[in-house]
Amino acid sequence: MLNNFLLKNWLIFWLLCLLAYPLAGENSGFDRQEFARLAKKISESALKEEKAYEFLQILALPGGRLTGSPEAARAIAQASDLMTQLGFDLVKQEPVEVNRWQRGQTETALVKSNKKGQHKLNICALGNSIGTPAEGLEAEVVEVRSFEELEQLKQAISGKIVFFNVLMDRTEPSPFAAYGRTGPYRTNGASAAASYRAIAVLVRSLTFRLDNYPHTGLMLYDEKSPRIPAAALATTQADQLSRWLKEDPHLKLYLKMNCEQLPSIISANVFGQLTGEEMPEEIILIAGHLDSWDLSPGANDDAAGCAVVIEALRLIKEAGLHPKRTIRAVLYMDEEFGGTGGRVYATSASRKSEKHLLAIEQDNGGGAPVGLALRGGDKIIKKVSCLKEILSPFGINWIRPGGGGVDISPLIQQGVIAGSVVPETQRYFDFHHSALDQVSAVHPREIELQAIVLAIVSFYFSQEGI
Ligand SMILES: [Zn+2]
Repeated sequence: MLNNFLLKNWLIFWLLCLLAYPLAGENSGFDRQEFARLAKKISESALKEEKAYEFLQILALPGGRLTGSPEAARAIAQASDLMTQLGFDLVKQEPVEVNRWQRGQTETALVKSNKKGQHKLNICALGNSIGTPAEGLEAEVVEVRSFEELEQLKQAISGKIVFFNVLMDRTEPSPFAAYGRTGPYRTNGASAAASYRAIAVLVRSLTFRLDNYPHTGLMLYDEKSPRIPAAALATTQADQLSRWLKEDPHLKLYLKMNCEQLPSIISANVFGQLTGEEMPEEIILIAGHLDSWDLSPGANDDAAGCAVVIEALRLIKEAGLHPKRTIRAVLYMDEEFGGTGGRVYATSASRKSEKHLLAIEQDNGGGAPVGLALRGGDKIIKKVSCLKEILSPFGINWIRPGGGGVDISPLIQQGVIAGSVVPETQRYFDFHHSALDQVSAVHPREIELQAIVLAIVSFYFSQEGI
């Protein structure tokens, strides 16, 4: 019954689409009827096969793909093989020299309190952090909840470990906005504390959830302050440490980590494409980043984005479509440590004969799509609004200004219009940069819907231009 009901509604929907748009749209030569038919063809085969999830599994196979690591090198080889097997044109690895940071085997944090006893804490080094001295370090802890409080307590910080216990704002509906506001404690907290002679920092993990998993991420050193070790602390234990500090303000924390920087190494961006039949030099770029943090296979961040762009390209090819302009799927290297791959791609001599019209980056997890964000002003939003009804069954509720990503920002600076298919992200920071970002955290249908939308949108722009 239910199946018949859904089928009937599906057919009615498409019939209405056809009746509503019997003629060519605002864009010259654009045939909505034909496009609606293509979208249906793409989506039916996509949802039947759910290949995006299969690609996600393949890309996640090497495990955590820290920039410059052997796992990242394996992922580059696997991604190249996969794109070759799928019959994409011009499958290529473009070399990128990257810095290499290694976590090391030792990450120990012990609370030592005369009143509360000795307790182990779940920490992980923040990316780019230096290690502690080989014997570790031990000091009292000063808890702060803001940079202002750090400033107020500056006299008390010398020789201590600063504990940034700053919660992501749960009253903020947008998880990324909350993350953006709390992120500076992870990124810049160590140097801020070191400027008052702290000897290490612990940073509360950036997640709304209370769990026992530390969430890593990039930290940066300011040239003006001494370099001190920085680690993330699981949220449940941040609460626990805060309680212990109230009961015993003189408790000590022992910290030992042997993370380190290694010499730079040659890695690569990987891409494959469907070469345009009429304007091959004009590029519609769709991208994700192949590197990840090392605590998990980085399924949502960003094996999912890579799987989505590969699947979008496959769907266009399998539907027998021949884009007028080139649609290129790029898997960037080194998003997490500062975007080297993006800069190298945008400035490579190989780009001289190419013209990038649009760059779409998928780096917000493998969730079901909810919107389409595009930069470039009202004109492009208006132009693409003809797709709204076609995209609606796949979850697209809105088309508005926005989108982009670290890897494509050098292209944006060159004037390329950017965009993103925006997924649902309320659960994204549950997994983000932690051991929880496993393949099982992504749902096959949700990620497939993202690929369907990306396939339709990128094919549309390949035909219509910008
Ligand atoms: Zn990412």
